[in-house]
Amino acid sequence: MTKGPIGIILMLLVFLAPLSGCVGTSNLTNDLFENHGVPGGLTLACLDDSSYTRLVIEIDYEEGFKPEESSTDMLAERLESVCDKPNGVDIKFTATTFNHEGSWSADDVRDKGWDAKADEPREGSVLTWQIIFPSGTYEDDSVLGVAVDASTIAIFGESVDDAAGWFNRPSAEEVENSVIVHEVGHLLGLVNLVYTSPADHEDSENKGHSNNEDSVMYWAINSRSVGSFFSGDLPTEFDQDDLDDLNGLADGSISSENQLWRP
Ligand SMILES: [Zn+2]
Repeated sequence: MTKGPIGIILMLLVFLAPLSGCVGTSNLTNDLFENHGVPGGLTLACLDDSSYTRLVIEIDYEEGFKPEESSTDMLAERLESVCDKPNGVDIKFTATTFNHEGSWSADDVRDKGWDAKADEPREGSVLTWQIIFPSGTYEDDSVLGVAVDASTIAIFGESVDDAAGWFNRPSAEEVENSVIVHEVGHLLGLVNLVYTSPADHEDSENKGHSNNEDSVMYWAINSRSVGSFFSGDLPTEFDQDDLDDLNGLADGSISSENQLWRP
């Protein structure tokens, strides 16, 4: 199938529509032509079990920035509950150095992330999503994490530590718990990144995010100011609207866009 200029322009508009905050897709041309996809581009590959029967979360961290066990355990649990993976969801840790100076842009995360990937996102029957935990901060240092394409996330530990609230409520560990699930929620296409929800739960001012403060996809979760929004428990779970969206995408009752793979 060839696409004329109109087709390309329409696709760019579709890509541009849901962008904000911690969804970094500035490199639109490369997303289209290098086929790394947009956040949510491998949603069906996760939700469906017909081709990819195992999900690996590759965690590449720099010294001092390995995520807490509570974060990765919780992440595996959340993914097991929404993605159909008969051969399991596994977390694979690798200590690394990214040899990167200064703050990070979305392009930096893409470049260094892809250099560090141990495996292609889709290899045989295994789907691999990657989260890098580098030293340093994002160029906007209020951003705690960013999903930059269909399989790549960065979470910035220095900023997560700074986001802890007064009297350690919430603690940096609790912030990290929420942020890791939140960013992977973007790889699952939440909210409205690769589909349009029948429910009105996308925040009108923070596209790609939930307007429900009880959802882990709530817009404030990826921001350094999260500690001042919540004095106690942060959400760590997808709410019913999020889960309904994922179920609808999985059974085809909600149509999806920009998928790198379909059942
Ligand atoms: Zn976000």
